[in-house]
Amino acid sequence: MNQISKITVSVNRRSYPWPQVAAIAICLDGCEPDYLDAAIDAGLMPTLKRIRKSGTERTALSVIPSFTNPNNLSIATGRPPAIHGICGNYLYEPQTGKEVMMNDPRFLRAPTIFKAFYDAGAKVAVVTAKDKLRALLGKGLSFSEGRAICFSSEKSDQTTKQENGLDNASSWLGRPVPEVYSADLSEFVFAAGVKLLKEFRPDIMYLTTTDYVQHKYAPGVPEANAFYEMFDKYLAELDAMGAAVVVTADHGMKPKHKADGTPDVVYVQDLLDEWLGKDKARVILPITDPYVVHHGALGSFATAYLPEDADREDIMARLSEIEGIDLVLSRPEACVRFELPDDRIGDVVMISSENKTLGTSEHRHDLAALNEPLRSHGGLTEQRVPFIVNRKLPELQSAASLRNFDAFYYAVVAAAQPVG
Ligand SMILES: [Zn+2]
Repeated sequence: MNQISKITVSVNRRSYPWPQVAAIAICLDGCEPDYLDAAIDAGLMPTLKRIRKSGTERTALSVIPSFTNPNNLSIATGRPPAIHGICGNYLYEPQTGKEVMMNDPRFLRAPTIFKAFYDAGAKVAVVTAKDKLRALLGKGLSFSEGRAICFSSEKSDQTTKQENGLDNASSWLGRPVPEVYSADLSEFVFAAGVKLLKEFRPDIMYLTTTDYVQHKYAPGVPEANAFYEMFDKYLAELDAMGAAVVVTADHGMKPKHKADGTPDVVYVQDLLDEWLGKDKARVILPITDPYVVHHGALGSFATAYLPEDADREDIMARLSEIEGIDLVLSRPEACVRFELPDDRIGDVVMISSENKTLGTSEHRHDLAALNEPLRSHGGLTEQRVPFIVNRKLPELQSAASLRNFDAFYYAVVAAAQPVG
């Protein structure tokens, strides 16, 4: 196997070389680049510090909305949401008049890189912190041949060979199922990644964490630094085993609260109710998910469906006037600029400024669960993310055009380099 393979794998109109060593992409959920700088400055990430020098370091742009699911599926497919269809956690279906979670694999419109490599004969492993992503990331994988493993830390005690490629991942790893709101949920992912690399020896592996810590703690505070110190130890093991590793993120994270610690929110449904009449328009917040403790469903991206007879130009002009709303686009404008699926976006898209969020109606947000001043994401101010490869890659494009969803492309390019 010392010869460079000529095989390439094509998926979603991109061509990937065959890796000679394990190709790993790690998505650090909510990793604003400052977190890494602060932890390195504090001397807590010796491995990443070394890799930054000996490998290749850039920043990259995430998908907008800068939310978890759209970006994870972009990393998994190598393409923007216009191709794979996942543009949020949450979606309004005008045909049924219902608001539904977008966790179901039926919403995914493109094959993943994992499936394409699996079908070409590779061994693939995917570990996610939260179970909400597992079914989407695992779509199309077959577990019958023992070449695929896909599970979440959250449900790691419920995995089976048939559904996940591994019986009871929790006892396999020798770690109890972590609390869903904890740093441990992410540590479980890294620990599983190290053990999988040693024992399962995947060709392609994806490790994706949760941003519980990042929603609560700013870069440089002890709890945040402890998280990255923990990550660095696992990164050291993956690197030492010879894998090609790309470290990136789904989105950044910014403080979104007032000086007194309360969330800074523009309640868009309340505005539209005032202008158009109660419930004539419908505001959708694609960040909405069942894990509300993180963010109270408050992020920096919203879309609104307007009634047929509304004067769109006028509504867009009025929204643009609101302090804290930085950008208002029509559906076609937003879908072109951010490469979004136009049948899953409302008539108007809004993005808030760095320290503001967008809400529906004030009474619909239960903010009691927020136990720290709000930090969140979703907008353009959380689009810049790290992109670090543990190999020299002179061909790696500049930060101006690099996307976080180029992670697997460069991971396999790095992994296809001759060893030694
Ligand atoms: Zn995220």
